[in-house]
Amino acid sequence: MENIELKRFWEQIKEELLATLPENAHPWVYPLEISGYDKGVLTVVTGQMMGRDILRKNYYSIMTEVLQQISGDKNARIVIIYDENAAKTLKKESEKLNKKINDRSLKEQALENLSNMQSAANLNLKYKFENFVVGDSNKFAYSAAMAVAKNPATKYNPLFIYGNSGLGKTHLMQAIGHYIIFNNPKLKVKYTKTEDYVNDYISNSRKTNNNIENMSKFNRKYTNIDVILIDDIQFIESKIKSMENLQYTFDNLYNKGKQIVITSDRVPKDIPTLTAALCSRFEMGLMLELTPPDIETRFEIIKKLADNNDLKYDEEALMYIAKNFVNNVRELEGAFTKVCAYAEITEQPLTLKLAKEVLKCDDNNDEITFDQIARVTASYFDIDIDDIRGTARGQKVSFARHLAIYLCREITNQSFVNISKYFNKKHTTIMFAYEKIKKEKDTNKEITNAIREIRQALKVL
Ligand code: ADP
Ligand code: MG
Repeated sequence: MENIELKRFWEQIKEELLATLPENAHPWVYPLEISGYDKGVLTVVTGQMMGRDILRKNYYSIMTEVLQQISGDKNARIVIIYDENAAKTLKKESEKLNKKINDRSLKEQALENLSNMQSAANLNLKYKFENFVVGDSNKFAYSAAMAVAKNPATKYNPLFIYGNSGLGKTHLMQAIGHYIIFNNPKLKVKYTKTEDYVNDYISNSRKTNNNIENMSKFNRKYTNIDVILIDDIQFIESKIKSMENLQYTFDNLYNKGKQIVITSDRVPKDIPTLTAALCSRFEMGLMLELTPPDIETRFEIIKKLADNNDLKYDEEALMYIAKNFVNNVRELEGAFTKVCAYAEITEQPLTLKLAKEVLKCDDNNDEITFDQIARVTASYFDIDIDDIRGTARGQKVSFARHLAIYLCREITNQSFVNISKYFNKKHTTIMFAYEKIKKEKDTNKEITNAIREIRQALKVL
């Protein structure tokens, strides 16, 4: 694979790892960089010795499974290597800043900003305004984010961006952070995922037994800043104390005239764990929704990826991908990456024919829902759909469930995470069910027949 395909291949694996591994492993996964993939051996490097050891010790088998599943190579292996130079992207960015800023204290502040975002494992250098494709579905959110980045705390405060998963909320939010770091380096920017904020709060209050002095250390960390970016607020837990503390953080920053930006997958009033007090605070600024991009924007998004990476492609191929991945930009990018990787592996040009072969999107497929698949599968086995989505463990029900999961993945191309939500199961359970059927489908007659008949009933052949 060429470098750029390697990178994409790795990004896809990394994303799946982040969806699969528990949150506390994420800080070790984020800094991993791909070094090579040769004869089924994937080599990744990290600048964190401890990260390497933890991943090797605790997560090796699941990482291998993810690799095998994405590469399609059952014998693929992963090797994690410690490398001091692995933080090279951060270094490059730091150098750019160094050149730009002469004032010493400003430089320190800017570097601190940068490393703050990086060390929280949260800075993604791709998530800048210049890499964000603007279309009808996101133009208001984009302009508002840009206005906030240019003039923090003067216009829209708080700025509340909401919309389904994979539509660019984190990207836009981090773009604000990047912009401010580079153009207004004396401002202190902090990006935090809601879960990290809550965990940080809980572990601090546990450690300190609510000792005032130590808690004020925690509070300083979140209030001694100019711009706070809080991602995925829907994950706020209903624990009263952390909620009260979030309100404290919010009021403290707001009253000092600091900028607050929040994202969520829904509007504040639909977050059941949110207190009324916080809800009304979040609603008092500007609330904007990101909706799925139209076909032109989807096409532009993958075209930009291809152009940025100097790839040769047939426009029809990109159009085919854009047509078939409708509701989630992350999945759209994943599909594109997959086609690129195959083009590279098989040394073929990126054509419509190849895209069709790899993605196998039937022209009618984008309409089919998980629910339809589960229903048809349930009726094929003459069981209730609630059993398929439930926890019953009978052999017949389990088998039907596994098949439905397999078909959901094959037919809709949706992520395991989305499928796991529909089936109310853990992401790993879904992955294993999928793999099991995939492995057995060609040798087990019962499976082959069931798949054929269910597909026929769904009119997806
Ligand atoms: P969310 O936070 O809403 O779940 P992300 O911000 O993580 O979504 O976006 C998912 C992926 O899609 C990211 O790789 C992001 O760069 C990309 N993306 C989303 N919207 C756009 C866009 N308008 N232009 C370019 N890339 C986008
Ligand atoms: Mg996000």
